Amino acid sequence: MKPDLYQENQLLRRQLKELLAHARKNEQKLQRLQSYELRLLSSTSVHELAQRVVQGYRSFGGAEIVTLAIVDPLYETQRIVRELGSNNDDISQLIFFSNEDVLNRLFGISVAPKLGAFKSRAHEALFPLGPRIPESVALLPLVRNNELLGCLSLGSARKEHFSATVRTDFLERLAAIVAICLENCINLERLKRIGLTDPLTGVNNRRFFDQRLLEEVGRAQRHAVPLACLLLDIDHFKKINDTHGHQVGDRVLIDAAGLMRTQLRGSDVLARYGGEEFTALLTHTDNSAALEIAERIRAVVAGHEFKIPEQASLRVTLSIGVAMLEAPNSDIQEESARLVACADQALYAAKHSGRNRVMCYTPEPALAI
Ligand code: GH3
Ligand code: MG
Ligand code: MG
Repeated sequence: MKPDLYQENQLLRRQLKELLAHARKNEQKLQRLQSYELRLLSSTSVHELAQRVVQGYRSFGGAEIVTLAIVDPLYETQRIVRELGSNNDDISQLIFFSNEDVLNRLFGISVAPKLGAFKSRAHEALFPLGPRIPESVALLPLVRNNELLGCLSLGSARKEHFSATVRTDFLERLAAIVAICLENCINLERLKRIGLTDPLTGVNNRRFFDQRLLEEVGRAQRHAVPLACLLLDIDHFKKINDTHGHQVGDRVLIDAAGLMRTQLRGSDVLARYGGEEFTALLTHTDNSAALEIAERIRAVVAGHEFKIPEQASLRVTLSIGVAMLEAPNSDIQEESARLVACADQALYAAKHSGRNRVMCYTPEPALAI
């Protein structure tokens, strides 16, 4: 072979090898992208989706800071994420906006991604994570059916990483998929929430309580913090139904649940246990604080004038049993059942000593406060 032909042959071989390596690399990248997208599509909660978006994107080496902002005017998604999630969930990468103003200012009527240098005034609401300030950002609007659901924000420590000249087809595809997943997860969580809410009073139902009871007992034991359980039962409720009708009875249940909620903290769990009986789990609450809160609930209900149509208002009282989580017991199910049974015994004692009172469980006998 002539030397120039030989050299040309060598060059072509080298080019072919490079092309093959490039194609192989692209194929691997595509496979990684596909599995990333599949992982996003199989998320079943907003929190899980946010974690998968963030971790998955970071693993591509694409951006150091990733946040997911959600427009949540009714405070609904935020409440669902907090209520259905566990207290240990890290939701720092989730941002909630009560209206579209911040995002409208950023995107206007365009729904195209915005890439470029980080501008603190315009972008800080999307990167509130403290000392790590990105140099360049990609802001991807999440749109479904012409509605702006939120924004996926990617921040890089390198200035040139997200510049206006970077191709955005992958980012646009990612935004479209995250928007579908977000809508899907919000709907799934709404359904979950409906299954865990009492339709009459809007407080949690027994199913939710039973789940949370195990979680809270486990947590209180692990961290050696107190946990109180209250059982609250409306006195002579049957008489209210018999005298004023079931509709008035229903109204009393709704209003009484609302009054109980006003005396509890956001982290406490209130549930309708069944019929005219409610239960509350007070986290990080010792015995004297639990008795104080129970007494406040009793007093606020007893002092309330329940309005009934075309009649004088109605007075209603509650009896409340209080029990405390005891020394560590390795069996969480057993300890949970014991806690509720003890609150029930205290409630029984409150009923038998005249109703409209709070009693605390003591092995024997129960003491009135
Ligand atoms: P006590 O002081 O001993 O607790 O007496 P009580 O009358 O409150 O208790 P009892 O268990 O005898 O009656 C509870 C009543 O609550 C019976 C049931 O018809 C009524 N009830 C249960 N669920 C509902 C509801 O969703 N709406 C209405 N209006 N009544 C309900
Ligand atoms: Mg009752
Ligand atoms: Mg009852």
